[in-house]
Amino acid sequence: MPDQSAYDLDLEMSLLLPSSAPPPWSAAVHEAARHLVDHPWEQNGQAAVDLTTLSLLLFARTYTGDRAPKDVPVTELREALAGPADRELRIIDEIAEALTATGQGYNPAVSRGTPLWDLFNTARSQYTGQLGASALADDIEPPTPRPSPMRYTAGRLAQLFADTSVPPVEGAVAPEVESGPLVVESDRIQIVTADSIMPLRCPQNHDVRTVRVDGPEVSTECGQGHVSGHWSLEAARVRMAVSRATGDRPSVQGKRVLTELVTVATDLPRHSDPQQDNAFLRAARHPVVGRDDVFAQIHGVIGKRR
Ligand SMILES: [Zn+2]
Repeated sequence: MPDQSAYDLDLEMSLLLPSSAPPPWSAAVHEAARHLVDHPWEQNGQAAVDLTTLSLLLFARTYTGDRAPKDVPVTELREALAGPADRELRIIDEIAEALTATGQGYNPAVSRGTPLWDLFNTARSQYTGQLGASALADDIEPPTPRPSPMRYTAGRLAQLFADTSVPPVEGAVAPEVESGPLVVESDRIQIVTADSIMPLRCPQNHDVRTVRVDGPEVSTECGQGHVSGHWSLEAARVRMAVSRATGDRPSVQGKRVLTELVTVATDLPRHSDPQQDNAFLRAARHPVVGRDDVFAQIHGVIGKRR
């Protein structure tokens, strides 16, 4: 039974709330969450794309400050998401413009986007999940565009809004989630896969002392001050690790000093408990007992046969 808090709405919201986002963004995310409080939050990630898309749409319609996200009527959202099922969403250009206008666009000078742009780009990409294969074998057919995750979202949200004549569920309340980073300091930070445990190290091979989760991003800092990312670290998994260590909700912000942080790598699901899902930790916790008894029994049986 997966730990449900690994897929709860408040954790999904925290992954959308980097400290670099402009102030109106948080209100858009909270209003999107209010519409989706009764949504099934599951492992497959669909609900997360729904939350991202609706947040982006509400932001695009309200970032100028003329009205608050809660004043955008359901009929307007329904209309914005409507369109032929065989085409990408009409709202894509509008969202791109809103992000660019608020300094959250793609920056060609450094060839990268902001966290909000990256979230948008993943949701609207028609190549999601295909780039890895093409990079490995570029003599094979180039990837062909497929429906973006956002297009499937439009269908699910249309269904949701078709069923609701009044803005969301009357009186629905979204969890309150602060924007900004969760910073963990520890002298013992380890990353585990199913069959390995490694101290987390910077590219120069020093032990990492600080892990910083900010919205969808994770960065690390070693004792020498080298700041870097790590290919198998992921925000939700680090948040779950902190939650296991402290008992706090995984969506909290602030600073924590821990004696130890053990996070699972991206090859294990978000809800994994390293004590159960890592071979070494599991063996240490449940040592094979009674082996001597087994041998004694075998010898006993052999002895009787003699
Ligand atoms: Zn270093």
